[in-house]
Amino acid sequence: MNPSQQVMERCDLLASCSDEPGSITRPFASDAMRRAQQYVREWMRQAGMTVSRDNIGNLRGRYEGSGAATFLLGSHIDSVRDAGKYDGPLGVMIAIAAVQRAHDSSKRLPFSLEVLAFADEEGLRYGSTYLGSRAVAGAFDLSDLERSDADGVVMADAIRASGGDPSNIGEDRWSGGDVLGYLEVHIEQGPVLEARGLPVGVVSAIAGQSRMEIALTGEHFPAARLAEVGLVNRLVPAGQALSAAMELAGRVALGAPLALAASKRVIVESADWPSGEAFARQAEVIGQIFRSKDAREGAVAFAEKRPPRWRGQ
Ligand SMILES: [Zn+2]
Repeated sequence: MNPSQQVMERCDLLASCSDEPGSITRPFASDAMRRAQQYVREWMRQAGMTVSRDNIGNLRGRYEGSGAATFLLGSHIDSVRDAGKYDGPLGVMIAIAAVQRAHDSSKRLPFSLEVLAFADEEGLRYGSTYLGSRAVAGAFDLSDLERSDADGVVMADAIRASGGDPSNIGEDRWSGGDVLGYLEVHIEQGPVLEARGLPVGVVSAIAGQSRMEIALTGEHFPAARLAEVGLVNRLVPAGQALSAAMELAGRVALGAPLALAASKRVIVESADWPSGEAFARQAEVIGQIFRSKDAREGAVAFAEKRPPRWRGQ
């Protein structure tokens, strides 16, 4: 099997490690993640790497070179809900394939290679981002350990349950000496390369993500009253609030309202949100628009990747 076939096959295998049958959902510190890491650990070993796992849960495969410095490669192996199979795993699989090639020809480079399989980039489980790379960068926010997931499981406990020690996350900080660089292969989440017929694009930097909580406030406008005031479409004013939310998000993406980005909270007011199921659908639409805008523009992620919460009902 040639290396590219192997990369594709391994991405297929990782796609089978999911918490939700029929789709790919692999949150931080989950059972699906544990299964995925068993594969990745073995593949790193086969490529001649010594493998370790840090406290936050990143796998680190090291291939020693003759010099003291290290070149980093990798990507994330967690996923969003109902993810694509190449988002993250592709970068880890290609990194391992690169080391495998050096190993197969018994080649020692003048520097070491280290492949990082980050345990969390997407923040699906705890509504945060980059837990894995933050720990390596020494930028992990310890207050994040107190966050709870949707089932009330505190992050510190989830880390413990998956084999890490939350009180030692400071030790995950890179301590391997000079870093020559970091290279990540990532699938493009947009249409540009395909439209231009290009097999690959090379960038020197990527956008970070800013996440906001969108609180929709206001009141439900009863259907009977709609008839009274003669409104035909009760979703139109809510749609205007949606436009306002998108505009705010766009401004955050451009870096304009820093105070807003820092507060991570946008309040969208409408006096006539629909109630019950209709509202849930509307909230889902808002969530979708934020998601698709994020993907389409390949820029900054605008918002929490969940439908906004409905307050005040
Ligand atoms: Zn990704």
